Amino acid sequence: MRCPFCRHPDSRVIDSRTADDGTCTRRRRSCTSCGRRFTTVEETVLAVVKRSGVSEPFSRLKVVGGVRRACQGRPVDEDDLQQLAHRVEEAVRARGAAEIPSHEVGLAILGPLRDLDEVAYLRFASVYRSFSSIEDFEKEIADLRSAAAGEAADDEAGNRDG
Ligand SMILES: [Zn+2]
Repeated sequence: MRCPFCRHPDSRVIDSRTADDGTCTRRRRSCTSCGRRFTTVEETVLAVVKRSGVSEPFSRLKVVGGVRRACQGRPVDEDDLQQLAHRVEEAVRARGAAEIPSHEVGLAILGPLRDLDEVAYLRFASVYRSFSSIEDFEKEIADLRSAAAGEAADDEAGNRDG
């Protein structure tokens, strides 16, 4: 690991600790040339497997890129996109698998995007699920409406239980 200050290629680990949730390890390092300290984070690479069989490391940037197009002209800012990508990454990593098919990454995007902006969600879903007719949109909108109604009913049930 190159020193970020002087680019020296060698450093010494002075402290190492695993995150509480066990998903990554942070190492405090000291440059053997300039002596300055920096931190590295080590985590397992989550591979996304495309339909072609080619795999590539999971990338939040790619998630943001895909969602940004669907959010054009919508009241969604960069923070929202970063947060969404973070939620997607947590969801796919929570499965604990080393590999995930790319279409499951798409599925993991749908939920948080629906929470964020319903229009962007419809755009994304229309491409992702290959909507071919206005009926597909109508069905999806009906699902959105019934999901919203279902959440309201859940809230009421929660209140009764509580
Ligand atoms: Zn250095």
